[in-house]
Amino acid sequence: MTSTEASAFPCAYRQRAPLAERSTLRVGGTAELMLEPASPQELVDAVAWVRERGLPLHLLGGGANTILPDGVVSGVVVTTDRLRRTYRLVPPEYKSGDDSGDPYSEATPRIALPEDGGEPVLVVWAGSSMPGLVNASKALGWSGLEGLAGVPGTIGGGIAMNAGGSWGELWEVVESVRVLNVDGSIEDLPRERCSPTYRNANLGERIVMGAVLRLEKSHKKIVGEAVRDYLKHKRDVQPVTEASAGCVFKNPDPNLSGGRGAGQLVDEAGLKGAAIGGAQVSPKHGNFVVNTGGATATDVLALIERCRATVAERFGVELEREVKVWDPRGR
Ligand SMILES: Cc1cc2nc3c(=O)[nH]c(=O)nc-3n(C[C@H](O)[C@H](O)[C@H](O)COP(=O)(O)OP(=O)(O)OC[C@H]3O[C@@H](n4cnc5c(N)ncnc54)[C@H](O)[C@@H]3O)c2cc1C
Repeated sequence: MTSTEASAFPCAYRQRAPLAERSTLRVGGTAELMLEPASPQELVDAVAWVRERGLPLHLLGGGANTILPDGVVSGVVVTTDRLRRTYRLVPPEYKSGDDSGDPYSEATPRIALPEDGGEPVLVVWAGSSMPGLVNASKALGWSGLEGLAGVPGTIGGGIAMNAGGSWGELWEVVESVRVLNVDGSIEDLPRERCSPTYRNANLGERIVMGAVLRLEKSHKKIVGEAVRDYLKHKRDVQPVTEASAGCVFKNPDPNLSGGRGAGQLVDEAGLKGAAIGGAQVSPKHGNFVVNTGGATATDVLALIERCRATVAERFGVELEREVKVWDPRGR
């Protein structure tokens, strides 16, 4: 890469960027090129830069639900890691549909989060961390995000995946999302115009630039206790201290699985603890594959395929993968 070419990059970049450190599963090879936009405009410019060159584009949030590929990933990885801002809009108070000021603007003053007063609304850029948001809502005594306690990743990934659990789904607190369309246009989509389903926001190839989250006023103590309870439950049933990418499979239709979740089916198929290379089906939870050390993406994918095939053969239930795998052609 010549210096002329390098100076033409739209934002901070890294060549031959190691990927495993960006994945909670700790697998992955090297990105030929990684762009690291630090503002919404840089994100727009980065995506346009990739698309103008016809290169494969791989979008990475916190890497908490993606199996990053082994080897050299050609094309460009665009990470939202540096788009971490969270705003509280007081004053002027945020009003739904008010377009007099752009709530996502870098110029918007950031109000110290733990202050009280104003509408319980948070405006977040795509790379805001979900654990950070849970902490912010706890400090404010605002309810709605407690169930996300212990769920790693970014709000952009959480919205795209419609992160959730038995408590509910992230989209329940989404008032609107700002998306970057494939044609390069930017759009604010109110919740009513979106159709999120189980672990899928159905946003297609749109990129989430940010979101407006509407929470409910509660009390710090109540929110804090709820967060603590969710965390405790998660620690009891999931291998949260080990390297994983969260649930491997979506839970199947209970009518087809006799009410059994994906983890239970894997467990009943006798696969808990099964291993390929450094990848192992967690002895704690059948729907988690953990990296016991030195696993490759190839190991993980082979183990997932073994689980899928065994469950299909034993119970006639076709499990659908929840974790994402990049298409080499990009998005
Ligand atoms: C220990 C552990 C526990 C977990 N518990 C839960 C749980 O309880 N509930 C749950 O739902 N998940 C859970 N997960 C999975 C994970 O935390 C969530 O899916 C999270 O939303 C992933 O966010 P991310 O930023 O890491 O996404 P990534 O893994 O980076 O990306 C996931 C997908 O979203 C896309 N994406 C990322 N950012 C954007 C964006 N800005 N715009 C559009 N698309 C984007 C990516 O291209 C990819 O297709 C858990 C994971 C771990 C490791």
